[in-house]
Amino acid sequence: MPWRPGVDLRALLDLLAPQDCAGCAAEGSVWCGACESLLSVPPRPWRPTPCPAGFPPTWTGPDYSGVVRAGLVAWKEQDRVAATGALAQVLRRSLRAAIAASPEHRAALAVGHPVAVLPAPSSRRSTRARGRSPVGDLARAAAGPAAVVPGLVLRRRVRDQAGLSATERESNLAGAVDLAPRAAARLAGLPCVVVDDIVTTGATLTDCARALAAGGAGPVVAATVAATSRHGAERDRAEHPLP
Ligand SMILES: [Zn+2]
Repeated sequence: MPWRPGVDLRALLDLLAPQDCAGCAAEGSVWCGACESLLSVPPRPWRPTPCPAGFPPTWTGPDYSGVVRAGLVAWKEQDRVAATGALAQVLRRSLRAAIAASPEHRAALAVGHPVAVLPAPSSRRSTRARGRSPVGDLARAAAGPAAVVPGLVLRRRVRDQAGLSATERESNLAGAVDLAPRAAARLAGLPCVVVDDIVTTGATLTDCARALAAGGAGPVVAATVAATSRHGAERDRAEHPLP
């Protein structure tokens, strides 16, 4: 990947600069105490309404609304890389809960077998434009680099995700996910956890689970940082009406 000084410097400056809270812009730290406590809710099982067939068992953290939503948008769209740590802790809790709730995943770990963590894919264009894959970075920070298999890819061009609402992003990616052939050999029969920053309609996680099953991977569960409430999904559509 060519070096992109603009993008790299922006990310570096975010690490070095005096911080405003990613959630509420209060001065002083990358997450203020109040916003961090809103992030730090216990993980919960979650499914969308309506629920797509094949949606994997999924655990998530807080509602995607208010300062949680503002923080996730700042982290992803404004390169607030310093915000990754706190978001990764939320994802780690969802990940642990998803694994603990799955007998197959627990059984694999109990006998020392690996469980693969797969970041939901980003559009190649958005990854290139940013010079990084935010969800990949988040997955490595949450699960440790060794557990992460970046095997889920997009098999067709999708619209650039920038400027799309969370709901639009999911429908933009639906049906586009594939398993990279080299990853398929590595994942044969292996329990998998798909991770993403947000789940809204469930289309992306369902598509990732379908691609993994088609590629011969083992049972699939999913974990995300945040999830839209039904009310949140409606507001998301209202604030970002489709063209
Ligand atoms: Zn705050």
